[in-house]
Amino acid sequence: MPSSDGTVHIIGAGIAGLAAAVRLTDGGRTVVVHEATGQAGGRCRSYYDHTTGMVIDNGTHLLLSGNHAALNYLKTIGAETMLEGPADAEFQFIDLAGGARWTVRFNNGLFPWWIFDKSRRVPQTRPRDYLPLARLLWASGDQPLEKLMTCSGPLYDRLLEPLFLAALNVVPPEGSGKLAGQIVRETLVLGGKACRPLIAPDGIGTAFIDPAVAYLKDRGVVIDMHRPLHALGFAADRVSHLDFGKDVVTLGEHDSVILAVPSYAAAGFMPGLQVPSSFRSIVNAHYRIDPPAGQPRMIGVVNGTAEWVFALPGRVAVTVSDAGDLLEMPRTEVAQVIWRDVAAIMGLPETLPPWQLVRERRATFAATPEENAKRPGAQTDWRNLVLAGDWTATGLPATIEGAVRSGNRAADLVGDGNVNRAAA
Ligand SMILES: Cc1cc2nc3c(=O)[nH]c(=O)nc-3n(C[C@H](O)[C@H](O)[C@H](O)COP(=O)(O)OP(=O)(O)OC[C@H]3O[C@@H](n4cnc5c(N)ncnc54)[C@H](O)[C@@H]3O)c2cc1C
Repeated sequence: MPSSDGTVHIIGAGIAGLAAAVRLTDGGRTVVVHEATGQAGGRCRSYYDHTTGMVIDNGTHLLLSGNHAALNYLKTIGAETMLEGPADAEFQFIDLAGGARWTVRFNNGLFPWWIFDKSRRVPQTRPRDYLPLARLLWASGDQPLEKLMTCSGPLYDRLLEPLFLAALNVVPPEGSGKLAGQIVRETLVLGGKACRPLIAPDGIGTAFIDPAVAYLKDRGVVIDMHRPLHALGFAADRVSHLDFGKDVVTLGEHDSVILAVPSYAAAGFMPGLQVPSSFRSIVNAHYRIDPPAGQPRMIGVVNGTAEWVFALPGRVAVTVSDAGDLLEMPRTEVAQVIWRDVAAIMGLPETLPPWQLVRERRATFAATPEENAKRPGAQTDWRNLVLAGDWTATGLPATIEGAVRSGNRAADLVGDGNVNRAAA
């Protein structure tokens, strides 16, 4: 039975939609989730791949221990133990041009003494090289990173480029200084405790998605799969009905809608909505092989095609961000080029093991100042309609943390019973 607060219809079962559903359910609201595809998770999903005979992720998702909203979400759904990371905040790197290896070790505590310790900071850097990071925190407005810091030199090549490329998914010189500054504020500034890298070695589905779906179903939430929204119907200042093609759901006076679909889909439902419209790809390569003993769980690669290499149980996964160059290359060639890097790092033969490639063309919006400026807030002109998704104005790049926060915010607005104050 719908509660007297009305039903909340969530469109899209990605991380944002699931986070909103979890929060609303906790608050005792009646929730229905409508998902276009046959699987929850959206851009964060695992699936069985017949070619390799393995369950693979569309992309190995990396969190940092400072991603408090994502970690709270996992705690709520009982999945916080599905993430794993080193006890301390350390990142290993290799430069394939010369074979040099190094480890950056952030210290716990607010004062960054790792910068003053040669054995912890990036080789060939001096403490003063790190000052531009502080400039990111105080920059006004939003400018490309290349206007705020020098995008060259050992610190950039050996730490900042790999980190900002992974976080922004855009070549860092073009990246939003504001978003980069926010990452620094929420991680490096808070010390090592906020910078531990965390991954889900058994797959992102088992961490972020399956437990959320089980949690919601246990609490009576209906998750309707294969149910793409075709159109929103508007009447005066509210959404009056949801058109699913085969059927139409008429909304009651107290019903509300959280639109948690990708930006391009949302723009199709809401004429006049300005959204980020330029995207960047991410390519992930998966190889069925036991990584040799002693390999680091995760290593950053400089001067390679591979950018982050993950040694996982029975498999090796590789991530390449803003991977436009790899989209048009033949798939086998991409798999081979990336594998050559892995073979060099792990001391393995260059012969390709069974492999699979996932090329996500619109993995994230391009985190440039121009696109960042197009992100709308959660509230809309319609009093019972709220937006969620990593592309809304979260202040963060397109990440799980941003998606969860957007879902939480949407749920809070609906939970207030005062969805869009501006419009009400
Ligand atoms: C390859 C890859 C690697 C990534 N790596 C990282 C990482 O390391 N760390 C990190 O934090 N983030 C990473 N991200 C980003 C992260 O996955 C996203 O930020 C997050 O999953 C976005 O969630 P979302 O709910 O906002 O959107 P989506 O996941 O896009 O969810 C939207 C949902 O809406 C559904 N939908 C669309 N249209 C309709 C319709 N008409 N009716 C009903 N449903 C509809 C979709 O099917 C989908 O399920 C990565 C993304 C990719 C693609």
